[in-house]
Amino acid sequence: MKEKFEKFMAGRYGVDQLSNALNVLFILLVVIGLISRNTLIWWIALIPMFYNYFRMFSKNFSKRYNENRIYTNMMSPVYNFFDKMKLKFQKKQKRDKKKYKYYHCKNCGQELRIPRGKGKVVITCPICKHSFEGRS
Ligand SMILES: [Zn+2]
Repeated sequence: MKEKFEKFMAGRYGVDQLSNALNVLFILLVVIGLISRNTLIWWIALIPMFYNYFRMFSKNFSKRYNENRIYTNMMSPVYNFFDKMKLKFQKKQKRDKKKYKYYHCKNCGQELRIPRGKGKVVITCPICKHSFEGRS
């Protein structure tokens, strides 16, 4: 079965960033259609879905490649924005590591955060009430 599929897909374009976006758009439209009970939106949702399948099975690589390039160029400010947000978030986590020490409860595995600089402390897990000693 898998072999057959691979044979079928050989020489076909497959998926790229644009197909992921089309998938998301399709799901989004279906959800909106479900919430609003608007059947017209369901029909509209079929457009990105069919376009996605058409691109996946297409043998015109250069055309599909260009479509994806146009899309990624268009979306680059959005991707940059998310990259920046991710960086900010990671920096914040690093700052937290200076202020807090992270432990895992030896009994239930819950992550515990204790403030640093208090020497030896008894840590009690809020989930299972297991307590153990640790350095802060
Ligand atoms: Zn615990």
